[in-house]
Amino acid sequence: AAHRLFASGGADFLKGVVAMDGLPPADRVEICFAGRSNVGKSSLINALTGRKGLARASNTPGRTQEINFFTLGDSHYLVDLPGYGFANAPVAVVERWQALLKTYLAGRASLRRAFVLIDARHGIKPVDDEIMTLLDRSAVTFQAVLTKADKIKAKDRDALLAQVRGRLAKHPAAFPEIVLTSAEKNEGINTLRALIATLP
Ligand code: GDP
Repeated sequence: AAHRLFASGGADFLKGVVAMDGLPPADRVEICFAGRSNVGKSSLINALTGRKGLARASNTPGRTQEINFFTLGDSHYLVDLPGYGFANAPVAVVERWQALLKTYLAGRASLRRAFVLIDARHGIKPVDDEIMTLLDRSAVTFQAVLTKADKIKAKDRDALLAQVRGRLAKHPAAFPEIVLTSAEKNEGINTLRALIATLP
């Protein structure tokens, strides 16, 4: 059933990976979450899994370059990719994580879908477009998840969705359905859970 995967206590931190040889075996259905720093990725992962402290704020120094693996039940891995778009990250750091990310995305056979988190207040930024292009090239189907939906006014929703839809149309690996979420108001969380649990 869709929600057994997200039953309380069903998610756990497994490990932080800094190099390809640290990856766990590709023996589970895998989904990953990507997004700009501060997009609300930790909050969303915590809301999804029902565990408040599970994903830490990704801007903690030292954790920013890790690919963090969580187990979801005994059949799935939930993968927290490092937040991107740090304004003042050293070039060497950015290059190192981009290389790891590229290798991971291109070579992970069990990776079923990526969720690209977009701040509902900002829409798709150039740096989000870059990640989407990388996903296209890696042939990883991805889906846009808008975060902090509670921060936008109802009258601005249509324009936001139109902007996102227009950008997604340029990406062959994009799945057309957009998920609107608020970790704060628990909006869209069950939709996302059901989507993950029923991935083909
Ligand atoms: P991360 O860096 O992507 O992991 O982002 P965090 O989850 O740490 O969230 C960044 C900031 O956005 C924090 O101040 C959160 O409280 C806030 N935030 C996250 N999700 C929501 C949401 O759904 N609604 C609102 N209003 N704020 C949120």
